[in-house]
Amino acid sequence: MLFDSKLPDVGTTIFTVMSRRALDEGALNIGQGFPDYPIDPRLADALVAAIGEGRNQYAPMEGVVELRERISLKLKASYELDIDPHAEITVTCGGTEALYDAIQAVVGPGDEAVIFDPAYDAYEPAVRLAGGRCVRIALAPPAFRFDWDEVRHRLSGRTRLIIINSPQNPSCSVATREDLDALAALVRDRPISVLADEVYEHVLYDGRRHASVLAHPELRERSFAVFSFGKTLHATGWRVGYCVAPAPLTRELRKVHQFNTFSIASPLQYAIARYLSAYPEAWTGLSAFFQAKRDLLAGRLRGSGFEPVPAAGTYFQLVDYGALSGDGDVNFADRLLKEAKIATIPLSPFYAAPPAMTLLRLCIAKKDDTLEAAADRLCAFAARLKRA
Ligand code: GLN
Repeated sequence: MLFDSKLPDVGTTIFTVMSRRALDEGALNIGQGFPDYPIDPRLADALVAAIGEGRNQYAPMEGVVELRERISLKLKASYELDIDPHAEITVTCGGTEALYDAIQAVVGPGDEAVIFDPAYDAYEPAVRLAGGRCVRIALAPPAFRFDWDEVRHRLSGRTRLIIINSPQNPSCSVATREDLDALAALVRDRPISVLADEVYEHVLYDGRRHASVLAHPELRERSFAVFSFGKTLHATGWRVGYCVAPAPLTRELRKVHQFNTFSIASPLQYAIARYLSAYPEAWTGLSAFFQAKRDLLAGRLRGSGFEPVPAAGTYFQLVDYGALSGDGDVNFADRLLKEAKIATIPLSPFYAAPPAMTLLRLCIAKKDDTLEAAADRLCAFAARLKRA
């Protein structure tokens, strides 16, 4: 052995595995979270214009100032916040880079970070690469609520970070203002930072409002909040996200960012800045847009055997196939791929110790036609299982 793996148990992410297998099987892919419809053509035009205007050299390390100013205005419009675009906003390569940088900035060897299962899969490897370890606390199905008493018991003198994700991927649950109050009470007087993955900030259903850590004065002081234009502008392949944090935390985050990606593609940043200045409220219809898709898919699946689990946010929908099969979710997702030609995401890979459950995650950020075709295949497969 010439070297020891630093992450011997980590394989390829379930999202990449399922997308790759969907291609191999010629399956309909409603697994990995990305839209299958085009971006706003005006955003595409803004990118072409930015390249034509020569925005083709390094952007500033912290992000193009025009974009950071636009982000600051967006935060004002969304949450009534005054965020300093120079000292508190950093543009990153998608939300994932922001998560990684924040974790490297505050977690050191022997430190602990609390994460909540089912946890998005990028958190734990980043904590381990920083030399830390994750304390994983389960949000129990079906409602996936926080148990703040358990969190209190699991904190230690080594806890440096608590990572929350709301709206939560993959459970589709959302944190309430009361959850944030409970979190604030727990970290008060302790050297613990908060990393809030809020990339689905604009996708909450049934009149719910997003509770951002930035709008919670006590949490704001110790939090990194992570956002994504991939989600907000339906452009996941652009890989443009950003992190908002108070100046002292932003300084630490930028120390990592500058030697990780250094800076993010200039034309993409100029294009988003220009687009947002022309259409400053481009994101305001997102909840209604996705709620209609959620209702379309859930409406077609109800009663089929793929029972929709109530979804409060994110652009995903969980379904429970327990009435159809007692198979484990990874096996069942595999059967769906091969026998029904449809790619989904099983939930157990997001747990340290998966509870017994029969849930799959479906992505609703798809054309209505795609969702209808997916529902047809799922219903037909369910009917076959019921007959067998
Ligand atoms: N955020 C996407 C999802 O949850 C996956 C992104 C990725 O594949 N890294 O499906």
